Amino acid sequence: MAVERIKCLIIGSGPAGYTAAIYASRADLKPVVYTGMEPGGQLTTTTEVDNFPGYPEGIDGPTMMVQLQQQAERFGTEVRIGMITNVEFSSEEGGIHKATVDNTTEIEAESVIISTGATARYLGLPSEQRLRGGGVSACAVCDGFFYKNQRVAIVGGGDTAAEEATYLANICEHVTMLVRKDEMRASKAMQHRVNSRKNITVLYNTEVEEVVGEQVVEGLKMINNQTKEVSEIEITGLFIAIGHKPNTDIFKGQLEMDETGYILTDGKSTKTGKPGVFASGDVQDKEYRQAITAAGTGCMAALDAERYLASVEEKVEA
Ligand code: FAD
Ligand code: NAP
Repeated sequence: MAVERIKCLIIGSGPAGYTAAIYASRADLKPVVYTGMEPGGQLTTTTEVDNFPGYPEGIDGPTMMVQLQQQAERFGTEVRIGMITNVEFSSEEGGIHKATVDNTTEIEAESVIISTGATARYLGLPSEQRLRGGGVSACAVCDGFFYKNQRVAIVGGGDTAAEEATYLANICEHVTMLVRKDEMRASKAMQHRVNSRKNITVLYNTEVEEVVGEQVVEGLKMINNQTKEVSEIEITGLFIAIGHKPNTDIFKGQLEMDETGYILTDGKSTKTGKPGVFASGDVQDKEYRQAITAAGTGCMAALDAERYLASVEEKVEA
């Protein structure tokens, strides 16, 4: 059987992938989206999304993602359930890129938009996993507002934790920051911001023993890893800020990445080092990590893909 060839393959079905699909289908690139293991992406793991423009009353994350899918399908996007398990990118201008779906089916594409996102790291405690969505969150900018004037805690000692602790301190009554070592990894400037806030208490050498609460977070049992002393505080929200893992394993060795695996793109564009391969959303952005910024770069990737395909076509015709 002949291998299927398409104009535009979009890997991932989060805000970046579906926005790329809306633009690519309206430009007649007949995109095919492979959803991956999490159709709809990270927002399907949350309830209320309050900061995506256009929803004055807020919107439930899974509902928003179904609407984005429907919008993409309205212009002819084909959405397929499946995981891209291998890729072979061409280094030639106008070259054909190969991908394998679910380790079985080969597909060829004239252009590829990578929107495979990133996965927040969690501690892995059973009580933490049980209370995800019930007060445990990996995104302070997304969920901090729900804890206005309340007491919360944040775990981590990097720049993200420091930045998010300061963000939460503006909204919440009090923030307890748990750092597992005797010092923060965050830059000195970030540490200074944390230390200058009166309503942040930093506990060093401290780890989470258990998140307390049945349906919602009610408190935190902590252990000092030096003295082994266990203590408890009352909180309503726990923010985990111990890093993210970009979903880029299948692209290793083919695309340029930073030391943590985020795909590097050229300047303000979404171009990777391979002609016709573009990256959008959290997979190439460790700085902002928001649905609206992911959607914005999804739009850019589709425009970049359209221009690339047009220039290849022009060269063939000349
Ligand atoms: P993702 O949403 O991560 O989607 C990645 C997609 O790629 C998934 O569909 C996945 O299945 C697919 N994929 C991965 N690997 C493969 C593969 N090999 N083959 C095929 N598909 C693959 N942001 C906000 O702006 N507002 C909020 O309120 C908000 N709340 C959040 C709450 C939580 C709990 C979390 C975790 C995040 C929240 N965010 C929020 C952040 C937001 O969800 C992300 O910034 C955004 O989803 C990133 O979009 P993306 O399209 O880049 O990737
Ligand atoms: P990070 O630098 O990898 O820091 C992760 C933090 O979480 C570290 O303090 C680490 O502790 C801690 N940690 C990891 N696993 C843990 C566990 N199981 N239990 C408790 N603590 C744990 O990640 P990041 O803060 O998300 O930053 C990622 C990158 O983005 C960095 O390069 C950072 O500089 C950058 N960034 C920059 C800015 C900015 O400049 N404005 C803002 C955000 C992020 P240890 O230190 O003990 O390992």
